[in-house]
Amino acid sequence: MRQFTPEVVLPARRGHEQAVLGLLRAYGPLNRGELSRRCGLSRTTLHDTLSGLLAAGAVVTATPDEAPRGRGRPAERLALNPAAGQALGIDFSRRAVYVAAVDVTYEIVGTAGEAHAPGLPWPDRVALAERLVRGLLGGGLWRRALKGVGVGVVGPLTGAWDGSRDGALSGVAALLGERFGGPVLLDNNTRLAALAESTWGAAAGDQDALYLRLSYGVGGGVVAGGVLHRGADGVSGEIGHVPVDPAGRPCECGGTGCLETVASIRAVLDAYRARGGQGDDLPALKAAVEARDPIALGLLSEVGGQIGRVLAALSNAIGPRVIVVGGELAELGAPLLEPVRKALDAGAVPISRHRLALRRAALGGVAGALGGVALALGESPLLSRYPAPEPEPEPEPEPGPAASPADSRAGGPADSPVGRRGGRGGPSPRPAVGWGAAQARPRRPLTPLPSLPTLPVSRGRRAAS
Ligand SMILES: [Zn+2]
Repeated sequence: MRQFTPEVVLPARRGHEQAVLGLLRAYGPLNRGELSRRCGLSRTTLHDTLSGLLAAGAVVTATPDEAPRGRGRPAERLALNPAAGQALGIDFSRRAVYVAAVDVTYEIVGTAGEAHAPGLPWPDRVALAERLVRGLLGGGLWRRALKGVGVGVVGPLTGAWDGSRDGALSGVAALLGERFGGPVLLDNNTRLAALAESTWGAAAGDQDALYLRLSYGVGGGVVAGGVLHRGADGVSGEIGHVPVDPAGRPCECGGTGCLETVASIRAVLDAYRARGGQGDDLPALKAAVEARDPIALGLLSEVGGQIGRVLAALSNAIGPRVIVVGGELAELGAPLLEPVRKALDAGAVPISRHRLALRRAALGGVAGALGGVALALGESPLLSRYPAPEPEPEPEPEPGPAASPADSRAGGPADSPVGRRGGRGGPSPRPAVGWGAAQARPRRPLTPLPSLPTLPVSRGRRAAS
């Protein structure tokens, strides 16, 4: 169990609400006595907290057990209201939009995605996201119930490369807040994919993991000691900008010969054609690989070696137990990943060489959107120090009046969206549900995702001796 700052965990009523909601999420319906024992609140405080949650519709009374308790009435049980709150995750990758939605009980409502032309303007991308969300949730109900939107975008978010970029993204956050009506949190989409893979996917349960995504861009995420690492200026996980060839091609980051210039989809396709390969897109390359085209196989062997050497260096610095490789290029399978494994084996320090697992990502293209959901809910232990929660504005006196708004609306353009875990702002129709600073949790943070397909994963591959 990770440590939490006490003043963040228990500021007042909001903390009590979060504690009660967390217990109902973890244990299912409970009666008042069970709740009182588990959360440790006084009878008066629990009564007031539950009154607020019931009035807000976040909690409902469940059907009592059929067997009566002694001579009295059956104990009234309380449960989360599945219709009361939802969180959305949206991944704006370079050429596609993915969305995922959960209800307040953390059940996955659904996921969806659609490719688009590169360079599609932001308003069109937001409109596409809205259409996908409507397709998932239907009607307008979701809008009233929405509790948060976790949004993944390409690149770091604090202007490390381009001072004007964050300004543009603030506008995007404002637009998303307008369209979806909930608090909007932005983060790097590849890091969100790492969060999802570490929560539900190929690295679930591993305290130390490294995630690499090989797509139109190359990026990653680091989970160290059970915490998703964000880094100063939000640049943690920019694995695509590790230099691999000092005499290589210029990179969009301003560097030369970055991993992205050799291992992105475009870079691989360019190199394939430059060597005489026939194929303009990924399916063509895939077909060439399946046909054992020596040009394609030779190229993937080289690229895999470069990837593996970078991963070995990172592994020696970070010490992951598992390395997860995702993105469309990973779907090329062994012709790319076996050279990765060999280079990793050659470069990793001996002590980790025989314990390190190399796995393919399990969640597919929707991983970034699922990570957005986890970010919006703020409940994954991986986010417990990510970023440091903002201090609560005021310790409210308690017991307070019922149903005072505690959540927040989207931050406007002047309200930096970077890493916000829900800003403070105008009124909201009901208290926060399943939302806020990371909470100590009694059990697993989120329900597993049984409906999602899992790719074959190579577990615990051992180095050849
Ligand atoms: Zn670069």
